[in-house]
Amino acid sequence: MSPAPKSESETLSTELQYPLPTPPELGEAQEIAPGVFWLRLPLPFVLNHVNVWLLADGDGWTLVDTGLKSSKIEALWRQIMSDHFGGKPLKRIIGTHFHPDHIGLAGWFEEHWQVPLWMTRLDWSMGRMLQLDSRQNLPQPVIDHFSRVGLSQAEVAEMEAMGYANFGNRISPIPMTFRRISHGEELIIGNHIWRVVVGRGHTPEQACLYCDELGLLISGDQILPRITPMIGVYPSEPDANPLLEFLHSLDRFKGLPADTLVLPSHDSPFVGVGPRIDKIRQHHRNRLDDIFGACAEPKTLRETVPYMFDREFTDGEIFMAVAEGLAHANYLIDEGQLDREMGADGAYRYRQAGKRAAAA
Ligand SMILES: [Zn+2]
Repeated sequence: MSPAPKSESETLSTELQYPLPTPPELGEAQEIAPGVFWLRLPLPFVLNHVNVWLLADGDGWTLVDTGLKSSKIEALWRQIMSDHFGGKPLKRIIGTHFHPDHIGLAGWFEEHWQVPLWMTRLDWSMGRMLQLDSRQNLPQPVIDHFSRVGLSQAEVAEMEAMGYANFGNRISPIPMTFRRISHGEELIIGNHIWRVVVGRGHTPEQACLYCDELGLLISGDQILPRITPMIGVYPSEPDANPLLEFLHSLDRFKGLPADTLVLPSHDSPFVGVGPRIDKIRQHHRNRLDDIFGACAEPKTLRETVPYMFDREFTDGEIFMAVAEGLAHANYLIDEGQLDREMGADGAYRYRQAGKRAAAA
């Protein structure tokens, strides 16, 4: 998910259809195509739910995503398994990406039922790395990164108070072994072939699944109907350009049939993948225009945030806003439209490249 953009109303698509407007009740499984079940699990955030998908798989089941780690959700799964699995075992979990609301319980399923985890290599690695690095205190390179983007001392102190262990809190130990899935690979699940379509930018290698025969796309967080996924630059790779990767990988979904039913991780299934991709692109173009306009005069990344987001940020949310802002700034730097210069205070100042050229 992503902080509410300034132009949220523009991102609301009027061209999408929602053929299944009523989500399943907690603990229920709604069959939306033969052998394909929609389940909804709670999240303790503003975004209060995540969708997961249970697929009939011969003598058992394949589950796509698990929800967060919490004792409440574990209890819910025990109930779902006894109510809806018909005595058949869970054979595998396919994780769309490494975020805790998606694979938070993969380790729990592996520990108790020896269910293997199928994921892309980069997302498994990133999740494992973050989990193993769940130290308590903010490392100095992360603090330095916050200084370079121009966070105030009070904001850095807020981040320090939050600590560094948040990733590990909501996710059970990610299994030490996994089965790799790759872009273009075809998985046989029950009687159907599902093709892996990798989306980039939200995470390094998010796995979406497309079944031509059923006309379904499990889109993870890559394509959501009403919000756009968080595209952020983080302290580990401050010069990354994930927005370019995200926009490139969206092209992989452009040729899908117009009547494809998209099964997103948040909100309701919808038809209209092409128009939705156009809206998502427009959303990012607007945000690029916002930051470019803000940099008519030199600004720190922090100073550009109010030009992109029409709200205040509390409780460390500024971390997300700055990560998203930096993704757009880095995109424009790679395009040659923005320059940056280190200020005497240790923070970069961003400025329109043409301006500097004209001034020079
Ligand atoms: Zn995500």
